[in-house]
Amino acid sequence: MKVVVIGAGLAGSEAAYYLAQKGVKVILYEMRPVKKTPVHQTGNFAELVCSNSFRSLELTKAAGLLKEEMRLLGSLVLKVAEECRVLAGVALAVDRKKFSSRITEILTSHPNIKVIREEITKLNLKQPTIIATGPLTSSSLEKELARLTGSKSLYFYDAASPILTRDSLNFKKIFLASRYNKGEGNYLNCPMNKTEYERFWEELISAETVPLKEFEKEIYFSGCLPIEVMAKKGKDTLRFGPLKPVGLINHLTKKKPYAVVQLRQDDFTGSLYSMVGFQTNLKWKEQERVFRMVPGLERAEFVRFGVMHRNTYLNSPQVLKNTLEFRDYPGFFLAGQISGVEGYIESAATGIIAAMNLWSKFNHLNNVVLPLTTALGSLINYVTNPHHKNFQPMHVSFGLMPPFEKKLSKKERFLAYSQRALNDLKIFLEKRKELL
Ligand SMILES: Cc1cc2nc3c(=O)[nH]c(=O)nc-3n(C[C@H](O)[C@H](O)[C@H](O)COP(=O)(O)OP(=O)(O)OC[C@H]3O[C@@H](n4cnc5c(N)ncnc54)[C@H](O)[C@@H]3O)c2cc1C
Repeated sequence: MKVVVIGAGLAGSEAAYYLAQKGVKVILYEMRPVKKTPVHQTGNFAELVCSNSFRSLELTKAAGLLKEEMRLLGSLVLKVAEECRVLAGVALAVDRKKFSSRITEILTSHPNIKVIREEITKLNLKQPTIIATGPLTSSSLEKELARLTGSKSLYFYDAASPILTRDSLNFKKIFLASRYNKGEGNYLNCPMNKTEYERFWEELISAETVPLKEFEKEIYFSGCLPIEVMAKKGKDTLRFGPLKPVGLINHLTKKKPYAVVQLRQDDFTGSLYSMVGFQTNLKWKEQERVFRMVPGLERAEFVRFGVMHRNTYLNSPQVLKNTLEFRDYPGFFLAGQISGVEGYIESAATGIIAAMNLWSKFNHLNNVVLPLTTALGSLINYVTNPHHKNFQPMHVSFGLMPPFEKKLSKKERFLAYSQRALNDLKIFLEKRKELL
């Protein structure tokens, strides 16, 4: 059996390694250094394009849990990251040069991997393939993917609003309604009086932002302004834009609010809500600080923060199965950031699962669908769930997993999620010993 992996980033490196270790002959295509991306600096595999951190190692954090799951799944990225670790407290940070050089060395010297430095512009649908070309997929391949999946399935920018857990919202202040009572009251509304609005506006316009890269500036021309940029146009701009109170009466006070922040249901079960119109470039800590000033969001838990950056990704809920295989193209799989996950470790982890599924398929074994109680299983379920209407990329979060009935403190709850996940993953892998 011969498999093609396109893109030797974090996801592609994991996928190629898994398959090669299983005795599969892999052809690994990587376009760098022949063709560059606007961000990568070297020709090395698994280059970290920004931070050198894989985030927390603590089991009270979803990123910590994901790394523990990746360890159980035999992750190459995690193994090499540990070899190249630098001091960073409870985070796993690496010497980036050593890290990507070591991954490159392992893959290029593997007897089952043939590396070809070439840009792929056309796909051979008869050839089992994993596409892992990342958020900066070359434009020729973007066109090919748009041709195969329909142009409406391919997104070029990630201009996402924060997503919050319903459990963390204060319903003593928030009311349910749609504007002009149209529909069944589908929005959660956070009402603001004049003083609250003005305080919020002042903090919003002075909060710290993440600078956009030169090649990302065109995002603004796609008609999608960050909330803080809109706010800077004038004190009342938001009140006539996404925070307009028209058609809404707060039935808790029977009054029309001065301004309203609306939250829209984000997942099928109604446990997650996104902040309408709040795409933002604020730093994550600043989002927490400023957005928690909105009445009802004082203790909001952020499942994901708002972002605005260049990011090619597919509308995975519509085009992928929960195995990361294309619905319409059997034997074709998608992995990494282009599948709609967000982050280094998330991207790498989906590479392992796409490879496991491809290998299982060609060995006539069952699909590899991890339990929903695991960080990775819940993330893949999120990005491939066909019930999604407003799909936006997602990173791992406890908010994606089935909740506990019991009321525990936040720390205890998160630890309990992790313990349940690791236990369920071990049981799963015990039953599927052939995968490792
Ligand atoms: C500017 C920027 C900063 C980011 N910062 C962070 C961060 O700090 N922390 C974090 O967790 N995440 C960050 N991310 C998000 C994401 O985690 C990374 O982009 C991550 O590298 C994605 O992994 P990947 O394997 O999906 O893609 P990549 O690591 O980008 O790998 C894709 C590979 O495919 C190759 N390729 C593309 N097109 C072709 C083609 N047609 N033929 C052959 N090869 C091709 C590319 O050269 C690349 O090597 C950032 C993303 C961007 C764009």
